[in-house]
Amino acid sequence: MRRLLLFLALVLAAAAPAAAEKRIALTFDDVPRQRGAFFTPAERTDRLIAGLQRAEVRQAAFFVTPGRLAQPDGAGGEQRIAAYVRAGHVIANHSFSHLALSATPAADYIADLDRAEAWLGGREGRRPWYRYPFLNEGRGDKAKRDALRAALKARGLRNGYVTVDGADWNMEALTTKAARAGERIDMAALRDLYVETMVDAAEFNDALARRALGRSPAHVLLLHETDLAALFIADLVRGLRRNGWRIVTADEAYADPLGNAAPDVPSAQGTLTEALAWEKGFPEPRWYSRADPKVADPLFEQRVLHKPAGAH
Ligand SMILES: [Zn+2]
Repeated sequence: MRRLLLFLALVLAAAAPAAAEKRIALTFDDVPRQRGAFFTPAERTDRLIAGLQRAEVRQAAFFVTPGRLAQPDGAGGEQRIAAYVRAGHVIANHSFSHLALSATPAADYIADLDRAEAWLGGREGRRPWYRYPFLNEGRGDKAKRDALRAALKARGLRNGYVTVDGADWNMEALTTKAARAGERIDMAALRDLYVETMVDAAEFNDALARRALGRSPAHVLLLHETDLAALFIADLVRGLRRNGWRIVTADEAYADPLGNAAPDVPSAQGTLTEALAWEKGFPEPRWYSRADPKVADPLFEQRVLHKPAGAH
């Protein structure tokens, strides 16, 4: 009997995720994204795929914006997207032209996402997820917000929400600007700042989600297809694991019941974590501090460019 109980305890322990377990999936937006400081687009893709493989990330999601294929940096973009899929990753809709919903009539906006869906249709690795550009779900226009929620549903699409945002796009922009200005970039410091910022963003949002939901959901990390990701993705995964995170597939993350949430807040834009916290009436800040360039930019200048504080 005692052995049976021990056996049952072991089975249960194996089946239920430990209370402390933190899970997160990696997602990359704006594919094919414009050039950064270091690589050609093809090099970026090769390095990003190799980094994910080295870090044993089985499946990340790449949110594509097919309108970028026609831009100068988009050359070869279709082959690059196919390479991500061949490496085991999945692709989904990030609109055709990257419009902001709050600044676009709903009908035009829906036509634009349909255009991207037509591009994606039938492609291998395609998932039925839609990621709003700028995470803009209509801001204060609830009729528009609801029109889009209905339009996605009618198309069999689900919101490709994010729960963690460390504003990696801003660090990429600062890096590109510094490199073009011929400034000396401390690459080790850049790596450390990138990893620290994204891991901190995950911790901040997990604490917020636990308060709002009473549990730790499977998180979705927003990254972009950047040179920083191509350089440091394996370091970032190591940093997350060091803090107790398990990297899960995008499929697993989007199977979380969180996907059914449709929070009603005064302005629909941002992470789902923020919206859920806002809906619960939690006070500000409901977003990670370094998502604000006013906080992030001085840190970059001091730590990566070694400028004195307050120099800019
Ligand atoms: Zn985007």
